[in-house]
Amino acid sequence: MPVRAVLFDAGETLVHPSPSFPELFTSVLAAAGHRRAPDAVIEASRSVFHRFSEAARDNELWTTSQERSERFWKSVYERMLEELGLPGDVALRDALYVTFTDPANYALFDDVHEALASLDAAGLALGIVSNFEAWLEDLLGSLGVRERFEVRVISGLEGVEKPDAAIFERALERIGHDAADVVYVGDNPEFDVEPAAAVGMTPVLIDRRERFPDATCIRIGDLRQLAGAIAGVGR
Ligand SMILES: [Mg+2]
Repeated sequence: MPVRAVLFDAGETLVHPSPSFPELFTSVLAAAGHRRAPDAVIEASRSVFHRFSEAARDNELWTTSQERSERFWKSVYERMLEELGLPGDVALRDALYVTFTDPANYALFDDVHEALASLDAAGLALGIVSNFEAWLEDLLGSLGVRERFEVRVISGLEGVEKPDAAIFERALERIGHDAADVVYVGDNPEFDVEPAAAVGMTPVLIDRRERFPDATCIRIGDLRQLAGAIAGVGR
């Protein structure tokens, strides 16, 4: 059976902080009089990668309420500010939270419209499975793509987060296809590729910055490569 449906992660797969996470972060610092390079922010972000794994392990469900979201992200920004030599700056931490939860600071990647059009033309059903606060619905609406996805399973509304198999299974049920006929596209091996494969979907890693050259699944650098990359799956 060829592929019948494609499900997408949202953050860093379809949408991104604009112009980018490190650039937006440095602009918040600059507004408070602190000059740091975007590369320093990328370096500092390495110190918080483990927080996402821990949150999953401890079932923190950080997207599922305003309080949990604030607690989680503020702890992430506090740690990063410490790495950047700005420890204990509560005003800055709070300004970062406000900035990164403002839909106006997000954009679609340039390749999204074209990629979705090719998948549509191929007759594939499209959906979203995302660890994101409930406002992703509004964000997708304001970016003009919400209705392109007939199924939208957003952790902040569902009360379950990736990598829990339950969130993927919920999406499969709603889109009405077997896992074997569905592709899942995401940017993160731990939260996207591994759990999608575990429920029987074909994972595709979108690796825009060549971070995972050794990935063993289908790997693309641009979403416009997706339709071609999955054309042979299941045939
Ligand atoms: Mg992502």
